Amino acid sequence: MRRLQTDILILGSGGAGLFAALHAHDAAPELSITVAVKGLLGKCGCTRMVQGGYNVALAPGDSVERHFMDTIEGGKWLPDQDLAWILVNGARERIRELENRYGCFFDRNPDGSVHQKAFAGQTFDRTVHKGDLTGIEIINRLAEQVWAHGIARLEEYRAVELIRDRAGDTLAGALMIDVRNGEYVFVQARAVLLATGGGPTMYRYHTPSGEKSCDGLAMALRAGLRLRDMEMVQFHPTGLLAGAHTRMTGTVLEEGLRGAGGYLVNGAGERFMQGYDSRGERATRDIVSRAIFSEIRAGRTTPNGGVYIQMSHLGPENVRRQFKGMVERCADCGFDLAGGRVEVVPTAHYMMGGVIFGPDCRTALPGLFVAGEDSGGVHGANRLGGNGVANSTVFGGVAGDTMAAWVRSAGAALLEPDPDALEAARAGCEHPFRQAGGDLGVVRERLYDTMWDDAGILRTEPGLRRAKQQLAELGQQLQATGVATTDRAFNLTWHDWLNLRSLIFVSRAITAAALARADSCGAHFREDFPQPTDPMAEAFTCVSWTNEQFTVTREPVAFTRVGPGASLLTA
Ligand SMILES: Cc1cc2nc3c(=O)[nH]c(=O)nc-3n(C[C@H](O)[C@H](O)[C@H](O)COP(=O)(O)OP(=O)(O)OC[C@H]3O[C@@H](n4cnc5c(N)ncnc54)[C@H](O)[C@@H]3O)c2cc1C
Repeated sequence: MRRLQTDILILGSGGAGLFAALHAHDAAPELSITVAVKGLLGKCGCTRMVQGGYNVALAPGDSVERHFMDTIEGGKWLPDQDLAWILVNGARERIRELENRYGCFFDRNPDGSVHQKAFAGQTFDRTVHKGDLTGIEIINRLAEQVWAHGIARLEEYRAVELIRDRAGDTLAGALMIDVRNGEYVFVQARAVLLATGGGPTMYRYHTPSGEKSCDGLAMALRAGLRLRDMEMVQFHPTGLLAGAHTRMTGTVLEEGLRGAGGYLVNGAGERFMQGYDSRGERATRDIVSRAIFSEIRAGRTTPNGGVYIQMSHLGPENVRRQFKGMVERCADCGFDLAGGRVEVVPTAHYMMGGVIFGPDCRTALPGLFVAGEDSGGVHGANRLGGNGVANSTVFGGVAGDTMAAWVRSAGAALLEPDPDALEAARAGCEHPFRQAGGDLGVVRERLYDTMWDDAGILRTEPGLRRAKQQLAELGQQLQATGVATTDRAFNLTWHDWLNLRSLIFVSRAITAAALARADSCGAHFREDFPQPTDPMAEAFTCVSWTNEQFTVTREPVAFTRVGPGASLLTA
């Protein structure tokens, strides 16, 4: 097995990974830093896909306290308050860095101040943006800086396992596959950042970038780490439904359409939202997603099995002007958003859950750090639109600073990996080449059905138990499914097998956490326990993988800054 060495290994090149690389380089330029990424640096991940923008309290009248309260109340009092406090304060620092240090251009008001727009769930217009292509601006500028600073890159390198040292108590590095030639490479590092960006792509309809398959969360579980809030999967209510033949299905039609007065209409031609919430189409994401799912389950669907969004009553010309990007996206798929109706369906968007971590991005495994969507606790039961990219960039920067200090400290040596663990990880990846036959497409379809029907927007105990059983069987079915082509270079079927391995495993963690939470809170809705949780008694789930099974515990939320019912704004 080929070996590489680096002081700091960063897995993933989204907002979290790139910020970590730049901060680590600034803090300790003498260290070797390597960004290893499944896709191409600057071209992959969800940060690049950010449309809406970046939440930050900048304008007069706004404050970090207000941003904090919106985050905590939006998260149903479940967030870790110390992490949320770092988020809202750090966002002010990061947005200045993005502009003044890394050269991002954000939209401005005529007086030169940064333009900030309204976003759902916020009591102040604080979302900074570059048109509706904010993520491209951020990632392009960060990638240029990474190139300019001579930070090492391993592109199309996929991490498959975190490997401990011989003693078993510190991380020694990560086993990776060079996708281009299929070679196994062990990257030995003094510090490793997990920044692979979660990504709930186990649901039939989903928004994240295609290469994301929860690899980081699966690796963390297998490495013995605890994940919190895994039942909290956010669905965006209006994903485009353009048929099974196109990857455009599942992509987001923005919230602004409903905000501007768009109607949701079921397959019977009726507007239905008023029957679910007095705010109608302007209710929050979780409520609208549940309402659409209920209509679908009642059989009042469109030809492709969703509902319609209708904008034509607002005047086609007006719609074309106001929502140019969305109108064009729909036109590309043959739909007339401005003058007709477009089929939509709720789509899995974001995982609030992830690896438990501290304010300095350390995890329970010495040598391993985490940032971005792989981490849990910042958003609680719901993420506010605009807080996702703030999360990845703020904590990515923190992780870079911490890792640089950690590596400089005496405690961080290059450690020898446990050879048995390394071999077991390699054998796990080789497994499909030793199996004959089977069809990965069948496994994937079954996974989609299971998660969508029984562990998605509306959940019940019998449904979750069914999902648990199905997922256990699916895991076995995958293990019995082979990859026919043994040439490992760019073997996409092999990588699909590995993707499914991560997705099925993390789906089991989601299901275990959802079963353990017999209440409804934010994104997690149990039809058999529809009452909202009492915030005072709020406790988060922790799921771990030990002795070949999942264990879930509940831990009380520490209200370290403000308790339910109180506010930092009035204190
Ligand atoms: C369509 C869409 C629109 C969004 N709009 C907004 C918005 O307007 N505002 C907002 O705040 N948030 C938004 N989000 C959420 C936001 O994109 C994420 O919260 C955030 O960008 C995640 O950053 P990250 O660095 O953790 O992960 P990502 O940016 O997703 O990066 C993950 C990286 O890890 C790599 N990777 C994955 N697996 C492996 C592996 N096994 N080995 C090595 N590398 C790996 C990937 O290739 C990628 O480079 C949106 C998300 C989507 C999908």
